[in-house]
Amino acid sequence: MSARKLTLVHLYPREMNIYGDTGNVLVLSKRLQWRGLDAEVVRVQVGDPLPAGTDILLGGGGQDAAQGEIGRDFVSRGPELRAMADDGVVMLTICGSYQLLGHHFRTKDGRTIEGVGVLDVITTGSDQRLIGNNSIDTPWGRLVGFENHSGLTELGAGVRPLGATEPGRGNNGSDRTEGAVRANVFGTYLHGPVLAKSPQFADELLRRAYARRGSNADLEPLDDSLALAAADVASHRPR
Ligand code: GLN
Repeated sequence: MSARKLTLVHLYPREMNIYGDTGNVLVLSKRLQWRGLDAEVVRVQVGDPLPAGTDILLGGGGQDAAQGEIGRDFVSRGPELRAMADDGVVMLTICGSYQLLGHHFRTKDGRTIEGVGVLDVITTGSDQRLIGNNSIDTPWGRLVGFENHSGLTELGAGVRPLGATEPGRGNNGSDRTEGAVRANVFGTYLHGPVLAKSPQFADELLRRAYARRGSNADLEPLDDSLALAAADVASHRPR
């Protein structure tokens, strides 16, 4: 396969990185490195430009307060992020970043944090906290992680759920959906970091990024026995 360097963008690593979500960036860059493929990780903070050649954009979870801190900067990137999504840039957003990739998040205390409308979802703060271990089956393998949020997310017609959730609470605790996907854009409530225990999904993201660059060759298999053993243990943990 051509060894074109992939540019991984980590959005708001300071504010939006709870429960180890930075690990998703590490997992992708390691899986490239183990295969002798090149990756550049660009950390984008409030006010920084997004690199022109972004292949994969990653955003982690953050408390309501952190979401408020980055809210204005994030919403100012709306047109660029929507254009990137339309252009097939791969995005993986977790919890707080997932919520803001939607249309808006109305917090429990009545604030509205505008989102960028890349994903057709809306989120409303609630008095309940959806918390615990969770795993879902997807076309790209089992995703295993940990959810902790009080925002309830409703999916619109422009997205599909990432999977069905049980016993986890997922997007809203009532319709059994977890996460959202639109073309190459993914949102999920699974922290953990989710990619550390979901190697097949990690490779799916890499494959999509290469395919967008015109390279469809298979990724060389890696020994994922440890990651899969960890996923097995984690998926049998009590809620
Ligand atoms: N503040 C959001 C909520 O509680 C997101 C939390 C998170 O990213 N874990 O719904």
